[in-house]
Amino acid sequence: MPRPLSATIHTAALANNLAIARKYAPKSKIWAVVKANAYGHGLARAFPGLRATDGFGLLDLEEAAKLRELGWAGPILLLEGFFRPTDIDVIDRYSLTTAVHCDEQLRMLEMARLSKPINIQLKMNSGMNRLGYTPEKFRAAWERARAVQGVGQITLMTHFSDADGPRGIAHQLEAFERGAEGIAGARSLANSAAVLWHPDAHVDWVRPGIMLYGASPSGLTADIADTGLKPAMTFQSELIAVQTVSAGSSIGYGSTFTAGAPMRVGVVACGYADGYPRVAPEGTPVIVDGVRTKLVGRVSMDMLTVDLTPCPNAGIGSRVELWGANLLIDDVASAAGTIGYELMCAIAQRVPVRAE
Ligand SMILES: *Cc1c(COP(=O)(O)O)cnc(C)c1O
Repeated sequence: MPRPLSATIHTAALANNLAIARKYAPKSKIWAVVKANAYGHGLARAFPGLRATDGFGLLDLEEAAKLRELGWAGPILLLEGFFRPTDIDVIDRYSLTTAVHCDEQLRMLEMARLSKPINIQLKMNSGMNRLGYTPEKFRAAWERARAVQGVGQITLMTHFSDADGPRGIAHQLEAFERGAEGIAGARSLANSAAVLWHPDAHVDWVRPGIMLYGASPSGLTADIADTGLKPAMTFQSELIAVQTVSAGSSIGYGSTFTAGAPMRVGVVACGYADGYPRVAPEGTPVIVDGVRTKLVGRVSMDMLTVDLTPCPNAGIGSRVELWGANLLIDDVASAAGTIGYELMCAIAQRVPVRAE
């Protein structure tokens, strides 16, 4: 028998979440973002739940090829563009759409020999300061791109730094509109946070990622409580041992937790080598036998330990939910000082994952 640890991908939840993105941005076409192996869910496993999208956004050429193998004939967008001239051959072969964010990429396109024009998304740096042309340089870049024989349709794209926070997007929208003024072509601006909270940014295409997996762009579960989004992954295991410890006994490496009174402690088959965050402190929520309890002691490589005081009937074989349908990933993430994005992407290779 394998260890009793696994992740389940909920196909119906993915489809539900895509429909919710559509409900929020009804006039826009959707790039369903499936980078990082569909945020750790597995591209092939996520695909059936998301196939009602208009296009898929990702980073790796290999993932793009895999989507074609899965039978996806629609648009695929390379969100970071390409890195070497030989990448353009793959873009051509699989009819990919690519972001173009710098002159080096334009130069490679100018030199490329293509079987047909490539559609591009010309990226503006409207304030994020990672990728793209500044508003001042954008028109010149667009003129140059338009003159390249191998370039087909040009969509104008930018990305927001604060769509989930108090600063908002007004300053970036203003910069984008200034740089794109008078330039024809579709626009693509909104990540999940802007899909949910900034309808003025929806325009022609939206690019939701995290919301499709049922987690919050802000990391706060309260922010998505009324959206109808459903968790797309459940990470579950079982108790493999139970210890009854006396007052004053400590648990695990570093003896970081000491029992104040006699208590039962459950040992769960899941550790940081499985993708559970080692930094998760005492008090991080865990569900055992349907009852919410908490982590005690340090997370080790293959195991973690939980307080069984609220679930006196729990024993070896009891079901443990680390996050999922009943315990939101963002609640676990915030206890560990991170966001759901990081936890879902970190599910380790050794964890068996299946879709249902
Ligand atoms: C990852 C990414 C997205 C999706 O972001 P979420 O916050 O997950 O919705 C959208 N656009 C670009 C360019 C991205 O890299």
